[in-house]
Amino acid sequence: MSLRFQAINNLSSEPNEVAQASTTKITGIFGENVFTLATARQYLTDEAYKSLAASIKGGKKIDRSSANAISNGIRAWAESKGVTHYTHWFQPLTGTTAEKHDSFFTLKSDGTAIEEFDGSALIQQEPDASSFPNGGLRATFEARGYTAWDPSSPAFIMEIGQGKTLCIPTIFISYTGESLDYKAPLLKALEALNNAAVDVAHYFDKNVTKVTATLGWEQEYFVIDEALANARPDLVQSGRTVFGAAPAKGQQLEDHYFGSIPERTYAFMRDFETECYKLGIPLRTRHNEVAPAQFECAPIFEEVSVAVDHNSLLMDIMDRVARRHKLRVLVHEKPFAGINGNGKHNNWSLATDTGVNLLSPGKTPKTNLMFLTFFVNTIKAVHDYADLLRASIASASNDHRLGANEAPPAIISVFLGQYLAKVLDEIETRVGGKFDEQDEAILKLDIHRSIPELLLDNTDRNRTSPFAFTGNKFEFRAVGSSANCASPMTVLNVIVAETLKTFKKDVDSLIESGEKKEIAIMHTLQKYIVESKKVLFEGDGYSQEWHQEAARRGLQNVPTTPLALDAMVTDKSKALYAANNVYTHSELEARHEIELEKYIKKVQIEARIMGDLALNHIIPVAVKYQNDLLANINGLKAAGLPESAYASQLAILTQVSSHIQVVYTKIYEMVEERKQVNNLSDTREKAIAYCSRIKETFFDEIRYHVDKLEGLVDDDLWTLPKYREMLFLR
Ligand code: ADP
Ligand code: MG
Repeated sequence: MSLRFQAINNLSSEPNEVAQASTTKITGIFGENVFTLATARQYLTDEAYKSLAASIKGGKKIDRSSANAISNGIRAWAESKGVTHYTHWFQPLTGTTAEKHDSFFTLKSDGTAIEEFDGSALIQQEPDASSFPNGGLRATFEARGYTAWDPSSPAFIMEIGQGKTLCIPTIFISYTGESLDYKAPLLKALEALNNAAVDVAHYFDKNVTKVTATLGWEQEYFVIDEALANARPDLVQSGRTVFGAAPAKGQQLEDHYFGSIPERTYAFMRDFETECYKLGIPLRTRHNEVAPAQFECAPIFEEVSVAVDHNSLLMDIMDRVARRHKLRVLVHEKPFAGINGNGKHNNWSLATDTGVNLLSPGKTPKTNLMFLTFFVNTIKAVHDYADLLRASIASASNDHRLGANEAPPAIISVFLGQYLAKVLDEIETRVGGKFDEQDEAILKLDIHRSIPELLLDNTDRNRTSPFAFTGNKFEFRAVGSSANCASPMTVLNVIVAETLKTFKKDVDSLIESGEKKEIAIMHTLQKYIVESKKVLFEGDGYSQEWHQEAARRGLQNVPTTPLALDAMVTDKSKALYAANNVYTHSELEARHEIELEKYIKKVQIEARIMGDLALNHIIPVAVKYQNDLLANINGLKAAGLPESAYASQLAILTQVSSHIQVVYTKIYEMVEERKQVNNLSDTREKAIAYCSRIKETFFDEIRYHVDKLEGLVDDDLWTLPKYREMLFLR
């Protein structure tokens, strides 16, 4: 019996183990596996505690002696929870998280065995991680990338099966200081944003000393049975099905959306949520998504750097916990053709240390103007650097989703909602164009009272916009579900930082020329609105008209990754990152190279999987079915029946044969073409060739014929689980 039928059999014969419902209150376990400042208070000396707290709050460096005291405290805490090993936990550019476990156990020179974790082991480690992507920055033989402790993100204990490991969040850098991970540049971008935003906030409130960017992600994913998934080599190896005919029933009835959660999935959710709570991940919502077997979870928003760590952890935890339940989680952007894919909306805002959300419309004229300032500057940033935002979400897997009538297009635009669109319109088209001090109307724009009901209400939500204002935050919706949020968050925060810096200069020079502060601000905002107007779009982002309209407006629409990535290395991009201390030119070049390489490898792997599946699964099965048909036809012939008796069988046989021919020929041609493409020495050219000469030329065509075969061949013979089984059996 094929794996497919074994899996289906097991589903109906073996009752699913449903995990015990957890009766503990969330508050009872929340953060119990995190070395929070509250925990630190218990385990650290006063001096060590102060040093840690100062480092977390003010980014101050920790000295050696404090580091020793802190590491001892962390070890005591971890050991009290049964931990034996520690690891520096980091987020390399492979897109997953990385760990290298070491035990506390060590031998002293006289042979005494002790448990030890000293300050230097906390602060720095050389993981010898020479095979992580480095884009040529670090010659492999050097092998001297090292991880360095990032105190802004707390240490935590990861429970894997019975084992418990202390994880120290770190950044990953090369021997010469270049960043090799997602986290280091993100922290730099957040620092740039903090500086620029505090300066601008001072126009309105001198008490602000820190501005923090906040992120609330919404993670979409599919859950399917493990045995069914294991019977699909494409899912196992690439996270998506490269073949599979559309099921009779897909998502057209929309009966799954916000429906009741299936019991087996529900048990899994509660289990992974419990793990998340222990790690301090504040998950808040869970619900079904549009597609069958698709779900979403979202936390309460947090500071960007913590939220990024938590999302990476979540993806890891979901995967591990699913295996306990004999399930598989798919976070690929497009696991199933013809069925909605997965996204990861990034809700983003700015908060001051005085407790103000800068993107929440204010109550008084002054706070209104502060809101308008950060609001318009964000729009301007998106307008000026739309190409970088597009590049930040570019990946082989997200290409399947962007612009596919289920996700925002690859065209970056901003949705405001009708009320704010009108407000900006009024500012822009002011009669006479100028503001003066008597201008009560503008300074008293009654934004606050009108926005909550108009925007926080779902009626004024546009689901088709890649970048939408949703009442008190912007929502970047084009981010892929498998992406590390750090990539779009680094770009968004640095472009807003840069825009705010320019804004400050522009306003200051108007003030110097004699304008009153508020008036200078209004004039600058007015100028920015005019300059960035073309990025605003309130209509249907999925429509064909928008594509035409966007082209007329001169907005970029780059649907494929290799070309979208070009934006990373333009002079403008280099200047931006250098000015804000986020990437040097060589870091940027390296990162560009890494992203291109990643793209090439992903497409290459999928092409190989297609070849394997076609030759080892599809064609053998189709040939068996041909033989069945032939035996039948010959039998009928031998029995002396007229041709009309086997005409249908002949017709099917002919169709099956012709599909086999095309599949075989195309697979063969694709292999030959890959050999040519692999010879290209320029990485960018190679990536472009993998996109156009391999993926676009062959994938859809081969799939078309394989899926036709699926519809013709005897179901009993077919070895790969079908869409209806993966999506509906549980
Ligand atoms: P939806 O977009 O699905 O309608 P909500 O608007 O309620 O849902 O919130 C979605 C996400 O936005 C949540 O993860 C939430 O934490 C986040 N969010 C809310 N306010 C902010 C904020 N000020 N900054 C960042 N994220 C926020
Ligand atoms: Mg949302």
